[in-house]
Amino acid sequence: MRIAALGFHHETNTFQSVKTDYDAFKNTEFLIGDQIAERHASAHSTFAGYFRGAEKYKFDLVPLLFCFTGPTGTITKDAFDRITNEMIGLLKNNGPWDGVLLAQHGAAVSEEYPDMDGEVARMIREVIGNDIPMVMTLDLHSNISQKQVNNTDAIVVYRTNPHLDPVERALDACEILVKTISGEVNPTQYLVQIPMIINIVKQPTDFGTMKEIIDDVENIIENPEVLSASCGQCFPYADVEHMGVSFLVVTDNDIIKAEKFAKGLAKRTWEKRAELQNDSPSMEDSINRVINSTSNDKPIVIMDVGDNVGGGGTADSTHLLEVAIKNKLEGKKSLLMSFFDPVSVQEAINKGVGGRVNLNIGAKTDKLHGEPIEINGYVRAITDGKFEEPKSIHGGWRFFDYGPSVAIETDQGYTLVIHTERGLGNMSRQMYYFMGIFPEQYKLIICKGTVSPRAAYEPIAEYIIMANSPGVTTADMNSFGYIHRRKPLYPFEIDTEF
Ligand SMILES: [Zn+2]
Repeated sequence: MRIAALGFHHETNTFQSVKTDYDAFKNTEFLIGDQIAERHASAHSTFAGYFRGAEKYKFDLVPLLFCFTGPTGTITKDAFDRITNEMIGLLKNNGPWDGVLLAQHGAAVSEEYPDMDGEVARMIREVIGNDIPMVMTLDLHSNISQKQVNNTDAIVVYRTNPHLDPVERALDACEILVKTISGEVNPTQYLVQIPMIINIVKQPTDFGTMKEIIDDVENIIENPEVLSASCGQCFPYADVEHMGVSFLVVTDNDIIKAEKFAKGLAKRTWEKRAELQNDSPSMEDSINRVINSTSNDKPIVIMDVGDNVGGGGTADSTHLLEVAIKNKLEGKKSLLMSFFDPVSVQEAINKGVGGRVNLNIGAKTDKLHGEPIEINGYVRAITDGKFEEPKSIHGGWRFFDYGPSVAIETDQGYTLVIHTERGLGNMSRQMYYFMGIFPEQYKLIICKGTVSPRAAYEPIAEYIIMANSPGVTTADMNSFGYIHRRKPLYPFEIDTEF
């Protein structure tokens, strides 16, 4: 049994001004053939699950191409054409196939295709024909479309956010695919799209209403005729027509049951729609809560929701740093945070370790993320920015490269790590340890993310605050000028009916 595996993985924030070109993928992760095993076999990613699936279900896995880059703006037509040409060329030249595994995100938008994931599935379907089964895996905060459903035999979606289950879901995908090839099952899927969004601050799955929804999904999976059930939480920063919450149920050849289960999940979630919207505190309230905190044992973690690098943030917002300085958060180890700012890194490198610096930090990408902030201090460390995360963290990534980086100790007692690649936000604590910095020792840690840093910081945090900060990923959805989203959509149109 020969199974091809491919992935063109991107979460597109269409409000981000930086377009995503071919070089963005090439410079982050662009793997062909055996390179995929080198990078992923020991990781905790979807492809890691495919490798384990090949052993468990005894098939020949032929990894063809996997590319990925951090969440930035719309993918250029040039990047889409070149990458899909390579994918399709590899697929045609290395066949015949018994099946295909496709690792997509489910929130990719290219200049030509608002539903890029659906188009990639369609292009592959055109090559392999209708008789060769294909199973696609998606990220939890995906915008699932009917086109994606029509061009795949089954879709399996992560169920944890932070994403700690890519391996398990990839194993589910392998099982469904192998059983389909051998004729044991005939997957039949039904999609229900609800006219609502789930705000990013309500997307974590380990507590609250979102946990109830995932529990509900997992109950449905217990039914013997169900092969898979999924929730697509939506990625609200993609201004496309199919953006919104959805439920997808895959049964063994029973479309009536698939429809019934999917509609039941949709209806129960719709009833909870008001609980799934933004209620995050202001930046002032968030910082003041830290200043007034009497607990000294563990750090308080503030999520900079407006500069969520995992959702397209620029990694250089200064809004929260400005409030911290203005409200006089001070003292040794009072604040730890990171910034993307190549100009400041170069200035610090020029001074050398121990040198005094006067820097204007951050806010150099656009006008949405504050003004550069003047800080004085000294250079504590200079590194190459390359580190490794051995544990299973969000998405299962293992190797990180933030480019040449420096740590600055400011006169207020802050430690600021500044890097030259935009990076993946703060999803691994190793970005501090490898520079000799211990996050556990700080009063406040500001993370540039909403959900992705949780797996790394929850174990050391007193508690986590999700601050309603401005920026390209703000939780304040009314600040975006949508053009393409469907209408009505709750909570934008508060009287939306379903
Ligand atoms: Zn995700």
